[in-house]
Amino acid sequence: ASSVEIRKVNKFYGPFQALTDIDLSIPPGKVTCLIGPSGSGKSTLLRCINFLEEYDSGEVLIDGQTIGYDAPGKKMSGRKLREMRRGIGMVFQQFNLWPHMTAQENVAEGLIRVRGLPKAEAASRAAEALRKVGLADRMANHPARLSGGQQQRVAIARAIAMEPKLMLFDEPTSALDPELVGEVLTVMKALAGEGMTMVVVTHEMGFAAHVADQVAFMEKGELVAVDAPARILHQP
Ligand code: ADP
Ligand code: ADP
Repeated sequence: ASSVEIRKVNKFYGPFQALTDIDLSIPPGKVTCLIGPSGSGKSTLLRCINFLEEYDSGEVLIDGQTIGYDAPGKKMSGRKLREMRRGIGMVFQQFNLWPHMTAQENVAEGLIRVRGLPKAEAASRAAEALRKVGLADRMANHPARLSGGQQQRVAIARAIAMEPKLMLFDEPTSALDPELVGEVLTVMKALAGEGMTMVVVTHEMGFAAHVADQVAFMEKGELVAVDAPARILHQP
């Protein structure tokens, strides 16, 4: 499991400062939830961790290695960035599945294209990942024949099939009908139980309270509190 160190990170969109001097340690094998009002910079910070957003100053270290830059202001090569991203899985609010492929093909595709696995091996690894998210009986379904919760679990399976050491979740349940939220959170809780390092942007305070090891609260681009959930959230 990976660790992440975020040091003095600043991020601008033109003249607008989206992140101000963010310092955060994300310990290996633990769950960190990022919470806070809409527009406070949670998603931007999450995306700085895999350099989907380029931070302007400070640094983000994955297992001690800076992601995105070889030196301040000097971007690393695309090849090196891809190499670092191999260990990082990401799940978005939208599931981004290919509609013309079955669940199993959706999961296998990355293993074939990115990892270069032979088709048969990719298919069996995909099946294993889908079993893990409780979709053993849905592997041959196309996304249109799956519920939103099932589609999001396929997206999670697609990420974990790559055997990441770090998983980033950006509001993974926000696009779901309320009755489907629980099944996705349950899968995420199981992953946490296996000792995966997880960073989760979420509005699910129940999940943050019960599953997170630490909660980071953001406001207006600043990190205003980082602590154990019980010290930040009112627990039911
Ligand atoms: P959150 O995830 O907490 O809702 P975001 O990280 O998505 O917040 O956004 C933080 C702020 O940055 C918001 O004010 C948003 O409007 C702004 N922002 C996000 N992405 C962009 C962008 N690509 N260009 C300009 N402003 C952006
Ligand atoms: P509410 O926010 O409605 O008061 P909770 O805070 O208990 O309810 O949980 C919010 C959501 O998170 C619910 O969908 C619940 O199923 C889910 N949830 C809470 N705790 C866990 C957990 N430990 N494992 C999996 N899902 C959980």
